[in-house]
Amino acid sequence: MTAAAPAAAPLSAAGPATPDLRGLLLPELTDLARGLGAPAYRGRQIARWVYGRGVEDISEMTDLPITFRERLGGAARIGTLTVRRSTDAADGSATKLLAACGDGQTVECVLMRFDDGRRSACVSTQAGCAMGCAFCATGLGGFARNLTAGEIISQALAIRARADRRLSNVVFMGMGEPLANYEATVRAARILAAPWGLGIGMRHLTISTVGLVPQIRRLAGEGLQITLAVSLHAPTDALRRRLVPVTERYPIAELMAACRDYLAATGRRLTFEYVLIDGVNDGDAEGRALGRLLRGLLCHVNVIPLNPVPGIPLRRPAVARVRAFARCVRAAGIPVTVRIERGTEIQAACGQLRLADGSGRASRWTPADRLPANSPATVRSKPARRAMPAAGGAPARGREGRA
Ligand code: SAH
Ligand code: SF4
Repeated sequence: MTAAAPAAAPLSAAGPATPDLRGLLLPELTDLARGLGAPAYRGRQIARWVYGRGVEDISEMTDLPITFRERLGGAARIGTLTVRRSTDAADGSATKLLAACGDGQTVECVLMRFDDGRRSACVSTQAGCAMGCAFCATGLGGFARNLTAGEIISQALAIRARADRRLSNVVFMGMGEPLANYEATVRAARILAAPWGLGIGMRHLTISTVGLVPQIRRLAGEGLQITLAVSLHAPTDALRRRLVPVTERYPIAELMAACRDYLAATGRRLTFEYVLIDGVNDGDAEGRALGRLLRGLLCHVNVIPLNPVPGIPLRRPAVARVRAFARCVRAAGIPVTVRIERGTEIQAACGQLRLADGSGRASRWTPADRLPANSPATVRSKPARRAMPAAGGAPARGREGRA
């Protein structure tokens, strides 16, 4: 790095020591240009090439003087990802990419196409995840490292390049826990939102979190209009602990208090995600308890029927059960959408493509029938139900419809 390079430049753990232009904010690009003896407006030009056009090589910045391009090439780089695999859902609703970082770590990102014309990118924030949720393919694979802001932006650019229309939304719902990689996630969000960046707008970004309380509070203090989606999955600590181990550290009461503070600070309606698992958290009792927990809060619930993961003995409930659960939550006045995951054939649930590519560790899930007799009453042990038929093929996370 030269003396001109900004101190905050995100450096890839394994990458070259020069900053990745794809992770720099406009003031940093301006400082970089100035440090190389160019006028400040060159920074804005670089941003246009890097974020507006998505160029992969500094030599493509044809309206910059050659001498400046050479100096820039010595002081910075453009980090790119190599797309190893691209898989389309049969119904065309999604395309999933498996992409390799410079050090060979692989991450997943998805282009989602909605019938109303919206095009959404789902990006990863970590290679792997350390949170170990019982139903998640990413959790199964363990944690490798945080992604840099540049690597997150590169995913959005790769998706945008494959979209037939303007990218309207970005959701941080791919592999990893965004708030466990706080700095890079917020930096990427600023770049995605900014007019000089990808121009998507903060209100069109969503961060999905497993529920890290201190980071939710920190995010509330950033003054960003970003939507927060909280992966709740259970209405009681006893049940949630079995699905989401981090409940041990941040019980539901603390999590809900942080959510209320986020709502108060931003005015943004909260989303609660609830992966519905056959015979585990999908009963009317859990639906009613969820309704009680969320009553009066400006929020909605996204019910996601489990996308089964090879090696994890959990099943997706039958359609009728999904509907009944949604009805119980709605009875408390909470709006519910059921996310229909399409294209199981593209293994679109978090971490599945990567898992299929390598080996994961064994699931931490304890089947209900192996729990001690005095296990929490909220966990119902019952005979296996038929898995939800993959009508018309399965998932591409983000397809939403009403049950
Ligand atoms: N770590 C963050 C964001 C990535 S996971 C989080 O947990 O929120 C994004 C969403 O996918 C979460 O709501 C998660 O619970 C859900 N998910 C993970 N595995 C899934 C599976 N097998 N089927 C359905 N949804 C799943
Ligand atoms: Fe990590 Fe989210 Fe998967 Fe849990 S659901 S293991 S937090 S990626």
